[in-house]
Amino acid sequence: MSEKTIFKRIIDKEIPADIVYEDDQCLAFKDIAPKAPTHVLIIPKKEIATVDDLTDEDAALIGHIWIVIRNLARDLGLEEGYRVIVNCKEAGGQEVPHLHYHLLGGRQMTWPPG
Ligand code: AMP
Repeated sequence: MSEKTIFKRIIDKEIPADIVYEDDQCLAFKDIAPKAPTHVLIIPKKEIATVDDLTDEDAALIGHIWIVIRNLARDLGLEEGYRVIVNCKEAGGQEVPHLHYHLLGGRQMTWPPG
């Protein structure tokens, strides 16, 4: 068995996190090193390492996560706009090998990202 990721340990409540939403399929918590006034990570409870590891069976789960993101953005007061980012693998800037969506808001975003 490979070692648990930091996000799996948060799901299992082995380490604390500032959880803003949870249901049977996913968890959302504040990023420990926020890159915007609002920076929340939304993760599936299912262990999926990267976007590349998604299967057809995950389609409903991913759709659900997007609805959770929409609801969180509304609840967090981001009606003026926000950004959702998924980094995929090393060249994509992914550090934690558990699929996660960055929800960023509360400031003007710029383009292109670094
Ligand atoms: P990524 O580079 O896309 O893999 O993003 C990983 C994110 O996880 C970074 O923004 C980190 O600041 C964040 N992070 C790492 N450890 C924790 C933690 N224990 N609690 C909350 N966020 C974390």
